[in-house]
Amino acid sequence: MHESKKSYRGRFAPSPTGPLHFGSLVAAVGSYLDARKRGGKWSVRMEDLDPPREAPGAAGAILRTLEAYGFEWDGKVVFQSRRGAAYDAALARLEREKAVFRCACTRREISDSALSLAGEPIYPGTCRGGLPPGRAARAVRVRVDNGVTAFDDALQGRIEQNLAREVGDFVVRRADGLFAYQLAVVVDDFEQGITDVVRGADLLASTPRQVLLQRLLGYPRPRYMHLPVAVNRNGEKLSKQTLAAPLTIEDAPAQLVRALRFLGQEPPADLAATDLTEIWSWALPSWRTNTIPRQRSFPEPEAR
Ligand code: GLU
Repeated sequence: MHESKKSYRGRFAPSPTGPLHFGSLVAAVGSYLDARKRGGKWSVRMEDLDPPREAPGAAGAILRTLEAYGFEWDGKVVFQSRRGAAYDAALARLEREKAVFRCACTRREISDSALSLAGEPIYPGTCRGGLPPGRAARAVRVRVDNGVTAFDDALQGRIEQNLAREVGDFVVRRADGLFAYQLAVVVDDFEQGITDVVRGADLLASTPRQVLLQRLLGYPRPRYMHLPVAVNRNGEKLSKQTLAAPLTIEDAPAQLVRALRFLGQEPPADLAATDLTEIWSWALPSWRTNTIPRQRSFPEPEAR
């Protein structure tokens, strides 16, 4: 079936590294309203792929907050921690296609390589042609090509990246045996039948890697819409590391209206004084994407 004819299926995919904050609420609201407005399904996927980075109890707290804010997801929540077999199968396919290679390099060995825009070392290609004698494999990397990988984003326009120059051969299975986000997200979006990925523009630079993996695995490409990301007064993305305030349940109506405004929607002035049911009944039919600011980041509005 042609991609655009498939019925809409969207998702919200939080990582349980801490409680939800205003930044994650924006991605949840944008993906939810876009799916519902188009009569689509919307699922929640817990990206608990990296136990060392997880905060105990965060996954449960995130789901309770989403529920208290009035989000209704379709089907069961998918937990990436239980999906190892699917990632293994995808990796085996990449191995058969000779699209990946084993790499012996330590972080320190590649630390003096040129840096990508995101500040990560660009892999210099040391193990591309085989492991150096006497060295054991640590990570598995995808061999990237020296062409432009591009896609059209519904808000941010055409995005192009030369993966070889800007990212380098990237890791799909880490030295500690864990699967990398890039592989897991592509396998899950495909297996869950996701047609539309609506998420924060902080992931824009990762998307070409995901587009390459989709091509290598023979998956269709979903449509992408990368929303502006909320930043604090220092221009930093709201996150646990930048001490973003957790969302509270008492504040749900006000926060929801704030998220709608952040996304360029124009709720009536008194909407925050009503309740969640009223807010969602206004937001759903009113959702439009042509007033969302076409920016990658944007300061968080002052709390009122
Ligand atoms: N788990 C990722 C995050 O919280 C989002 C992944 C995605 O939406 O593709 O930043």
